[in-house]
Amino acid sequence: MSYYFERYQQFISKVDELTEKLSGLHKDHMQCRKGCDLCCMNYRIFPVEYFEIQQSLKEKPAQTTESNDDSCIFLKDHVCQIYEHRPFICRTHGLPLLYLNEEQWELSACELNFNEFDDEDFSAENTFPQDTFNSELFQINKAFIQENELDYSEFDLLEMKDLHQR
Ligand code: SF4
Repeated sequence: MSYYFERYQQFISKVDELTEKLSGLHKDHMQCRKGCDLCCMNYRIFPVEYFEIQQSLKEKPAQTTESNDDSCIFLKDHVCQIYEHRPFICRTHGLPLLYLNEEQWELSACELNFNEFDDEDFSAENTFPQDTFNSELFQINKAFIQENELDYSEFDLLEMKDLHQR
């Protein structure tokens, strides 16, 4: 499994590099800071991410909170307890994201950061290409499942709250 965890971590490094650059470009708008956790929910993630977090928890256990259907079990006192190992979806929050929705390009942006904007304010240069990265992660996860002969389909997602007891 470790080969795929390394591939996943290389992918995450690329994500972090781009999100840092975009956060700098949009620094006048970004309100994201420690304590703002409106984005923290019980996400469903790919098995490669799930098992990477599971491994990190074996090495360094994290405090969790009561699980329910909505909130993330790793949010405690407004602080992410697995920040270094948080999944891809948690790393792009707050930025303007570009993705394809039923053959149309759509922009998604946090209302706290971008409350007044025109579509012309955004371009390929200052938005995060969510679909491109989603596709890359999909391929890493698919290879992870196949090579490790795991009993999942390439479309299966796992709930983060199930990491509670592991
Ligand atoms: S893993 Fe961390 S950043 Fe992601 S939803 Fe949970 S608390 Fe928030």
